[in-house]
Amino acid sequence: MRRGVTKRKEATESAWQPLEEAVPVDVFRAEVLAWAERLGVTPREIRIQPMKRKWASCSSRGRLTFDTALLHQPAEFRREVIVHELLHLKIPNHGKLFKALLRAHLARD
Ligand SMILES: [Zn+2]
Repeated sequence: MRRGVTKRKEATESAWQPLEEAVPVDVFRAEVLAWAERLGVTPREIRIQPMKRKWASCSSRGRLTFDTALLHQPAEFRREVIVHELLHLKIPNHGKLFKALLRAHLARD
């Protein structure tokens, strides 16, 4: 499975206002796990660490890495990144199926 780039920071940084308070790492991790269960995938490992060029990535072995800067981003954006990266555990590309599933999961109820 290829590494997936969720967003280039330079493209999104100006579009989002950082939250005043960061979300605790445990809460973020819980968000990832809740979505993993909902999507029916099992990440082998979830890491949260500073990243330079990406918000998140997915290794071929099923290890997900999220940028700590996400903890300062709004819930809706975190969800976008989390669902995108978890979907890569099912689909390792950005093809039509990936996009359709992403849209479906991110659609508001
Ligand atoms: Zn991707």
